[in-house]
Amino acid sequence: MAEHTPDPKGTNTGTAADVLGPLVACAPVEGGAGTLRATDPATGEEFGEPVGLVDSGQIQEATRAAEQALDAFRAQSPAERADFLRRVADNIDALGDALVDRAVRESGLPRQRLTGERARTTGQLRMFADVVAQGDALGARIDPALPDRTPQPRPDLRLAHIPVGPVVVFGASNFPLAFSTAGGDTAAALAAGCPVIVKGHNAHPGTAALVGRAVADAVRESGLPGGVFSLLFGEGNGIGQELVADPRVKAVAFTGSRGGGLALMRVAAERPEPIPVFAEMSSVNPVFVLPGALAGQGAQDLAGAYVASLTLGSGQFCTNPGLVFVPSTPDGDRFVEAAARLVADATGQTMLTAPIAAAFRDGVEALEGRSEVVLRARGGEGEGPNAPAPALAEVSLADLTADPRLSEEVFGAAGTVVRYPDAAALPAALEGLEGQLTATLHADTGDADDLAAARALLPVLERRAGRVLFGGWPTGVEVTHAMVHGGPFPATSDGRGTSVGSLALHRFLRPVSYQDMPDALLPPALRQDNPWRLNRRVEGTVVPGGDPA
Ligand code: NAP
Repeated sequence: MAEHTPDPKGTNTGTAADVLGPLVACAPVEGGAGTLRATDPATGEEFGEPVGLVDSGQIQEATRAAEQALDAFRAQSPAERADFLRRVADNIDALGDALVDRAVRESGLPRQRLTGERARTTGQLRMFADVVAQGDALGARIDPALPDRTPQPRPDLRLAHIPVGPVVVFGASNFPLAFSTAGGDTAAALAAGCPVIVKGHNAHPGTAALVGRAVADAVRESGLPGGVFSLLFGEGNGIGQELVADPRVKAVAFTGSRGGGLALMRVAAERPEPIPVFAEMSSVNPVFVLPGALAGQGAQDLAGAYVASLTLGSGQFCTNPGLVFVPSTPDGDRFVEAAARLVADATGQTMLTAPIAAAFRDGVEALEGRSEVVLRARGGEGEGPNAPAPALAEVSLADLTADPRLSEEVFGAAGTVVRYPDAAALPAALEGLEGQLTATLHADTGDADDLAAARALLPVLERRAGRVLFGGWPTGVEVTHAMVHGGPFPATSDGRGTSVGSLALHRFLRPVSYQDMPDALLPPALRQDNPWRLNRRVEGTVVPGGDPA
């Protein structure tokens, strides 16, 4: 990795080349539209060197370079692409503690969490490298010509996937490493062969810039054109919308608020050439506790696990359990009382930004103001200006069904317990529930009533959520091949995909079919001699490619 002098404590003053800031086509640039400074959410104080904000000319330079880099980038062999992704991961590791130090100060998240997040970030890059190396993502298919078929001969048809083109990624505030500059969306797009332009989140500019340098170094070390990667800073309403409107951009990945996601979807849909936006927005991740699960020690144990999941990381997870459905039984009462005691004893932790903490306070206040809602517990305020008290509310199933606004996300450690009279009432009541990232069932499978209720609920939950859990809590998303982190609107803008796990790269690929193309003109993935030794579907059946040459 090339030598840089990153300044995690933020005391550096220097030129664009050695100060953290935006990268246009992998090259450090001075911002053309002013600067911003990082804010420590634990104190509310600004710190560190000013980070440049890009102007319109720099945005266009980045998208132009991305368009120009596309053909060279997508010409890489699976092995070369895999090497590049592993290099990005190695370069992030090489940043050492400076990266975690900076992320802790900018996000207020605990060091242990961010150390784990760094491992997840590099782990998912290496997972994509393995997937790309196998070549299966190219999805090569061959239907050889049938010249003797009657009444018409069949042409030779060969299909492979190509990258959609330059992708704009909006870094998420709540995962400054694993879902930001070189996080899941960037890794998936690069794995697909798409140049990436990251709109860095202004809540963690130094963290973003350090990671951006690591990616840019990997681009250079791999002999790729600089346009494969850019990192830009600015206000979303300005540069974010300009990027999405830019005709050279062919897809968008976003994690954040519903308002932000919807605004970008509108911009993308109104372009002369509309493009897909893969936006992950809001989800309350309902948990259904059936009566049998609360028997005996169940009520106490589940209440403890629930509050731990609710308050983890100040509740700033897209998979936070915002709604828990609990029966109106004495066992259900014990669950609510235990959960209320735990929330009352909990202390607020610093949230990511002052606006996010303010939105949380407003959301809890709005809930509290509703006559149908009982505020069962409020914890203590934490230290500093942005550590609001956790909250637990209670509402009846009938009231929730009558006004679906009661199920809107309050981002942070605020949960609502929904009391239901009879598990048989749940499936019909859920028809009005919005799309979710997750839905969770707790039931005693040895109890015939629970089993019947769970069977009746499952088809509804499958239609509502991208991931259906049994017996656990939704916070914590494994990065694997069988993971779905997606779901129907508004959990995401397109429920057909996932933003976590190896399937995520398919969002950025497009199939192309070649008819009667001479072998010499076919891409390597489809040539007769199979130079990349890909597993290919021939007449619909997988034919192993053998060991790499
Ligand atoms: P956000 O306000 O939606 O911002 C996310 C990114 O999108 C930022 O880079 C932002 O740029 C940009 N952006 C926002 N609105 C835009 C618009 N109208 N046009 C173009 N770009 C736009 O999300 P956030 O800052 O992370 O947090 C705010 C709220 O989002 C939270 O309180 C929470 O409700 C929600 N959130 C949800 C999740 C989840 O996983 N469900 C995760 C994070 C946040 P600027 O900052 O420069 O404007």
